[in-house]
Amino acid sequence: MAGENEGLAIGIDLGTTYSCVAVWQRNRVKIIPNDQGNRITPSYVSFNQAERLIGDAAKNVVALNPTNTVFDAKRLIGRRFSDPLVQSDKKHWPFKVICGANDKPMISVTYQGEEKLFAAEQISSMVLANMKDIAEAFLGFPVKNSVITVPAYFNDSQRRATKDAGTLSGLNVLRIIAEPTAAAIAYGLDKMSSSSDEKNVLIFDLGGGTFDVSLLTMVKSTFKVKSTAGNTHLGGEDFDNRVVNYLVQDFETRHKKDIRDNPRALRRLRTACERAKRNLSFMALTTIGIDCLYEGIDFEYKLTREKFEELNMDLFEKCIGHVEKCLKDGKMDKKSVHDVVLVGGSTRIPKVQQLLQDFFIGKQLCKSIHPDEAVAYGAAVQAAILTGQDNHEIRDLIWWDVTPLSLGISVNENEMRVVVPKNTTIPTKKEDAAFTNLDHQTGITFMVYEGERPRASDNIQLGKFVLSGIPSALMGVHKFNVCFEIDANGILTVSAEDKTSGKTNSITISNVKGMLSSKDEIERMLEEAERFELEDEEHKKSFNARGLLVTYVYVTRNLVTKVAASTEAIKIEDEIKQAIKWLDEHRVGKSELFENKTKELKSIWDPIIRG
Ligand code: AMP
Repeated sequence: MAGENEGLAIGIDLGTTYSCVAVWQRNRVKIIPNDQGNRITPSYVSFNQAERLIGDAAKNVVALNPTNTVFDAKRLIGRRFSDPLVQSDKKHWPFKVICGANDKPMISVTYQGEEKLFAAEQISSMVLANMKDIAEAFLGFPVKNSVITVPAYFNDSQRRATKDAGTLSGLNVLRIIAEPTAAAIAYGLDKMSSSSDEKNVLIFDLGGGTFDVSLLTMVKSTFKVKSTAGNTHLGGEDFDNRVVNYLVQDFETRHKKDIRDNPRALRRLRTACERAKRNLSFMALTTIGIDCLYEGIDFEYKLTREKFEELNMDLFEKCIGHVEKCLKDGKMDKKSVHDVVLVGGSTRIPKVQQLLQDFFIGKQLCKSIHPDEAVAYGAAVQAAILTGQDNHEIRDLIWWDVTPLSLGISVNENEMRVVVPKNTTIPTKKEDAAFTNLDHQTGITFMVYEGERPRASDNIQLGKFVLSGIPSALMGVHKFNVCFEIDANGILTVSAEDKTSGKTNSITISNVKGMLSSKDEIERMLEEAERFELEDEEHKKSFNARGLLVTYVYVTRNLVTKVAASTEAIKIEDEIKQAIKWLDEHRVGKSELFENKTKELKSIWDPIIRG
């Protein structure tokens, strides 16, 4: 049995709060229920004196064992401890996160009476191993291969760490794919038609803790992510919190008692509010009733859908703002969007659906895919394609992602030379040329950056590497081929080759050093690029002007050295040395400074060179 099923692969949606596993079986996708019969499983791991619990069992004890029950590992994975997002998240978690070696965040828990430290990948690997177990129990044979999904904005480091988590869990990760792409695959399969017209699809993914909007273009059954937007802290939990805070105040008004100092009471209230919120997706009124909530006082409140909407309206509107931004980034008019797909449990909220439908001028929303399962569904389809278990129709489905920011190297005194432009479809391989910019340079440092600003230092430095042992030569003699390669998992490798000596070196942005931007950073950087547009324009002009001057000075020098020993031109050798010194002293400056200097030198040198 196992032999015949050896190649089979499962699709796993590794979520922040819940995970879901699916498999392609008998020409269709099967969402696999866990041992409790639930089709989604909490991404929770709990440690105690005797054992380790995962999934529903772990979530059930969160109130009893809060400091040793870990969730939200996805918010930590692939990030540094000093990341401002980690610092702010940390304040809200009941479990402890400390700074490990190389600025790696480590989760500290007491397990079997001892303090144990776990990296986020280890926690995620336990969640993944649990999903693997769920699949194996259902299928009745061991499963090795998998496709795992990550948010579209996940950077190299986060994707890599997720892949590591998969490997740690005993899975062979065939591919990491973006969540909206997976949802689109599920959607494309639903709607597969013979139409060859281009289709624009907006994936609106509002889950428990995060909100992601992605704009995809689909031609036949090929998907391409055009743009992404969203918020890493916006979702169902925020809606619950609004209700909790409102009811805490209500309790205070009624009983003159503040329940905020009682974590257990707060937790019970939160659970009841979450349940009420779900009810309000189907009813107009629901009752929240909790016996002995605080100091023996019972609590009851009749919550209307209207009140729930009023408490959360600004958050719902925020979601629509992100949709607008996503369309703007993708340079697409809302009328050009053919389908709007709902993903994530919170898209069941009627007001959210209504606002979205109004924004798209009455367009019918696609709800045919189960919102909690669409991502795992698509991952299972992708897994079937990769293992050749699919029928030939779905083999035509190809997935594409894009780079959220431009990638490049620093050249010519801090100029950002873009090698892979923003929104390039991945996997991709792009090459560019670079030259030595000093005489007798025997080593060159390649600094890799991500961002939209013309000055490299205004962007995010991802890493650097040195190509040394280059034979000594004058500036500009050595030409380097710089290659940026992003693989199907979104992992970036940058290499450089000296064309003269054949020497090469490369860097793969590693987990520990990985500093690729987070989604919030991407938003900040894009916003900064807009804000500093004028200033950046001047930097670009200045880089160009200095670049032209450098070229003019060095080309003149080469001409003089090659042909001039006995001619008039020898007279300007000293002036060239002076000009090189001047350039050294004026690494930055206004464009006019370099333009004027070029004019000045040209007026003297051109007549001499031309003879
Ligand atoms: P996800 O992360 O996609 O699994 O979404 C989980 C979130 O969806 C949680 O905050 C749930 O409370 C929320 N959710 C699930 N079902 C409903 C519903 N019927 N109405 C409103 N929110 C829901």
